[in-house]
Amino acid sequence: MSGTVFLVGAGPGAVDLLTLRAARLLERADIVFYDALVPDAILSLSGNSLKVKVGKRSGRHSTAQNFINKQLADAARKYRVVVRLKGGDPMLFGRAHEEISWLKKQRIRFEVVPGITAALAASADLGTSLTRRGSARSVAFLTTRTAPGGRPNEWIKAALAADTAVIYMGAGEARPIAQALLAAGKPPATPVALVENASLPDVRAATGTLEQLPALAARCGSGPVAILLGEVVRDSAIIAAWPSAQSSSSPTVRATRTGRVRSSSS
Ligand code: SAH
Repeated sequence: MSGTVFLVGAGPGAVDLLTLRAARLLERADIVFYDALVPDAILSLSGNSLKVKVGKRSGRHSTAQNFINKQLADAARKYRVVVRLKGGDPMLFGRAHEEISWLKKQRIRFEVVPGITAALAASADLGTSLTRRGSARSVAFLTTRTAPGGRPNEWIKAALAADTAVIYMGAGEARPIAQALLAAGKPPATPVALVENASLPDVRAATGTLEQLPALAARCGSGPVAILLGEVVRDSAIIAAWPSAQSSSSPTVRATRTGRVRSSSS
């Protein structure tokens, strides 16, 4: 009889945004496989478990997916509670499908514990509702990435069709993303916001227009960045406190955990 693999959402980074279910599982875990984006403060909730880093971040060292699959199955044969901890929600851009289908094939029990995804943490930090009664009724969570051998990525259709779009893993591709959207007819003045390290004490947000997206992205640091696009971003609580988006120095703010927002020109 094998153990159970729990695919657990670690949330966007803040420890207290972890679900209670996730925290309880971490306490019970015999072994935890975790991604690069999962902070130590969350891992430390899992006192005595074995910790195995299988982190994936673009352009950095990563563990091949089939090796991770195999490690999960091997662990389930050895331990009762195997936690596979993934940033945000495991079912969004987390390759959960590949792990789940492998576990099913191996007849290993699994459960999924949802987490707060980056888009929602970013919207909270901006004080911006992703939907708006009467004007924004659809939200697309998308990535412009294409997996080798995968179907062509038709992200642009999703980005054009939705009232609000949240782009994951897009900061490094900001220029081609902006060019593609502009070429597809998205107005250059479409409001955009970038939120780096959403939910964390060092969260930074920058806002402007689609035309300014490459410049805004160039100012991001090395943390994960969510790009929000759409009219809802125009008058977020934070933006109201900022210098005009048209001003030559693009606005960057730091939002503190107490909700105070400081503008800075750096
Ligand atoms: N499963 C995760 C997404 C993994 S893809 C989730 O549900 O959030 C990794 C991308 O998520 C990053 O490139 C970035 O676009 C976004 N992301 C993750 N954590 C973030 C954070 N704290 N702030 C902003 N964006 C974040």
